[in-house]
Amino acid sequence: MTDKKKNTDIEKSTVNPENINYQSGYVAVIGRPNVGKSTLMNSLLGQKLSITSPKPQTTRHRIHGIHTTENYQICFIDTPGMHLGETKSINKYMNRAAYSAFDDVDVVMFVVEAGKWTREDQAVADKCKHLKCPLIVLVNKIDKFKKKQDLFPFFQKLNNNLEFDQLIPVSAYKNSGLDIVEKEILKIIPVQEAIFSEDYITDRSTRFLISEIVREKLMRELGDEVPYGSTVEIEQFKFNDEENRWIIHALILVERQGQKQIVIGKKGELIKRIGTHARKDIMKLLDARVHLELWVKVKENWSDDERALASLGYTDEIT
Ligand code: GDP
Ligand code: MG
Repeated sequence: MTDKKKNTDIEKSTVNPENINYQSGYVAVIGRPNVGKSTLMNSLLGQKLSITSPKPQTTRHRIHGIHTTENYQICFIDTPGMHLGETKSINKYMNRAAYSAFDDVDVVMFVVEAGKWTREDQAVADKCKHLKCPLIVLVNKIDKFKKKQDLFPFFQKLNNNLEFDQLIPVSAYKNSGLDIVEKEILKIIPVQEAIFSEDYITDRSTRFLISEIVREKLMRELGDEVPYGSTVEIEQFKFNDEENRWIIHALILVERQGQKQIVIGKKGELIKRIGTHARKDIMKLLDARVHLELWVKVKENWSDDERALASLGYTDEIT
C-alpha cells in the first residue's frame, strides 16, 4: 500500500485548463508570534495543516497550504513569528524562514492581534515598508471584543503606524471576515493557470506533518519550560499489511535530563496523553489506522547547534 496522501505529488497542474480567467498566486502570512497566523491559514484552507498553540514557538518552519477551486488557486505561506532579541541558532533559523517569505509573493498578509500592538509588531511593520507587492493587514481575534466600536482606536493606531492597501478585521476562530480576505486576494493575484496540481495541498512531506502533530501535542500539554527545548523526529513510518495500519515511531528530543522526566510525567501519564491526542490527529491525516510509539531522548543543546539543527530538519531547504 502506498502513502495515501498525495501531498508530495507536484506534477504540473491540470486544474480546469479551459478556464482562461483562472487565477493563481502566492500569499505570505506574516506577523509576530501568537497573533493567530497558523490558525488563520488553517481556517482559510478549511483544513488543519499548520500546528497551533498559545505558545510562541509553535510554528518553526515555513509551510505552504494550497487552496484550489474550479476558478482559482491560492498558495498560502505560513511562517514562524518574526521575533526580536533571540540569538540562538533556532531563533535565527525561524526569523530567516519568516523573512524569506517576502520574496516572490503576490500579496503579503500582515496579521496583528486586535487591541495589542507591541515592539515586535512595529519591527514587522518596519520590514513591510520595503515591500514590492500589496499589503493586507488582518486584525485577528476580534471575537475578543464585544463592542466593535472599542476597536476603532486600534484601527486608528494602525493607520498611523503603517501604510497598507487593505485592513480587514477577522476572527480565525469564528471564520468571520475570511470571505472578504479571499475576495481581496482575488483582486490582486494574476490571471494564470494553477501553479500546483489539485491534490497538492502542501509542500511538506507526510512524515513532516506527523512530526508536527506530535510537537503540537507536546506544546499544548506541557508547561512553559520544556517546549522550546524540544523537537520531534520520526524514526519509523511504514504500513503493515498484516495489521492493516501504519506503524509510526516518533522520538521526542529534549535538552536536559530533567525535561525528559517532565515529558514522561508521573507513571508515564503525560506521554501517554500526548500519544493519544497525536494518534487521533494522525489517523485523520492518513485516513487509516495508526499505531504510534513515542520515545524521549536527551540531546543537549540541539537548538543552538547548527549541525544538530540541520540533521533534525531545520534546514533552509524544504523536507
Ligand atoms: P501564530 O503563532 O501566529 O501562528 O498563532 P497560532 O495560530 O498558533 O495561535 C496562537 C493562539 O491564538 C492560539 O491559542 C489560538 O488558539 C489563538 N487564536 C488564533 N486565532 C484566534 C481568534 O480568532 N480568536 C481568538 N480568541 N483566539 C485565536
Ligand atoms: Mg504559527
